[in-house]
Amino acid sequence: MPKITIKNTFARQILDSRGIPTVEATVETAKGSGTFGVPGGISTGKNEALELRDGGTAFSGKGVSQAVDHVNNVIAKKLHGMDVLAQGKIDQALIDLDGTPNKARLGANAILGVSGAVCKAAAAAKKVPVYKYIAFLHKHKKGWKLPQPSILLIEGGLHGDTNLDIQEFMVIPQADSVAKAIEMGADIFQSLRKVLKLHRLDTDLGFEGGFAPNWEGNGQAFDMIMKAVKETGYKSVGLAIDAAASEFYDVNHKEYVLKADHTSLSAERLVSLYNQWAEQYPIVAIEDGLMEEDFEDWQMMQDRLGKKMLLIGDDLFTTQKSRLQKGIDLGIANAIIIKPNQVGTITETLETVALAQKHGYKVVAKHRSGETNDDFIADLAVGIGADYIMSGSVARGERVAKYNRLMAIEEELSSKF
Ligand code: PGA
Repeated sequence: MPKITIKNTFARQILDSRGIPTVEATVETAKGSGTFGVPGGISTGKNEALELRDGGTAFSGKGVSQAVDHVNNVIAKKLHGMDVLAQGKIDQALIDLDGTPNKARLGANAILGVSGAVCKAAAAAKKVPVYKYIAFLHKHKKGWKLPQPSILLIEGGLHGDTNLDIQEFMVIPQADSVAKAIEMGADIFQSLRKVLKLHRLDTDLGFEGGFAPNWEGNGQAFDMIMKAVKETGYKSVGLAIDAAASEFYDVNHKEYVLKADHTSLSAERLVSLYNQWAEQYPIVAIEDGLMEEDFEDWQMMQDRLGKKMLLIGDDLFTTQKSRLQKGIDLGIANAIIIKPNQVGTITETLETVALAQKHGYKVVAKHRSGETNDDFIADLAVGIGADYIMSGSVARGERVAKYNRLMAIEEELSSKF
């Protein structure tokens, strides 16, 4: 295909779903343009690429005007005249221009904004949907496979004003289409609202649209979900949790502090608790079950639970190829969360996915707690052939935008998973 040159690259500061500034970048060519909204996290992994924040008093120091400036005044010049179809070359140019190991100079938020906008502009220029263009970049030739939605119902940790330690409780409905799985998830969500009300538990929503009341203990959240599922009559529903265990790990005492259960546990005992939960409830996946740097304990968890369920590394791997490779070498997990902003470019994201898939890891495309209405991760999930997608609950516009996009893609492909 002949070269399609980039004419303009620019960015602006917008707000994410938490009211915190983020970067929205646009790339224009004569044949089409792309705009990408960068998401942001709160329970971030230590090894994530650096999100550049202004500091100072505006927006409590969380402004991104420096990152926006870097797009408008540094990156734009570099990209001018480059071929928008050369995603790999462009991403490498961004990495070189930054020159730091964690994208700290220009900001991963500036870099990902542009990298994502390039990807979307290229798809527009080629007149193909974004997921098809990503499949082309990823050399994904095995036919279309749609990801199974893992739908958030209850949230705690840093995502809700609640005593719940476990950050997310999700359901994975088994269905023969995305649309049906989302319908089941929505039915269970509405049913849970009624169950919570019946038990006089608060039904306000947390950052990602999940219910966030105070609990008698972490296990009570499972009980309420099981009641809600029973009310709907659905039988084929698995449960998943994102423990985000780094957030309740006490480094000094080397133990996990479960406030809601009034207890502190060693890694061994926490894994025993997971095992006990898995015997009581249909748990099929645990994300970040242990602290992100505890590779040895992850190995122990993989030995004990890895055959029964997915053990998914999020903060553990931070979408970085080198950390995933270490995990593969040590045999510490069997699935990975993919969040492009943890690494900072589309090309690096796809490289990590390729490594995971080569080694039989299940791949989960996931949103951040601070989202925009950008539905890119739905296209990403389909383009890379992800096994699952986690885009929060079935409430709040920025969450359902991704599920709605996924259903539109399914319709377009008229395929089944
Ligand atoms: P975060 O949450 O975006 O706040 O880091 C992580 C998640 O939802 O996995």
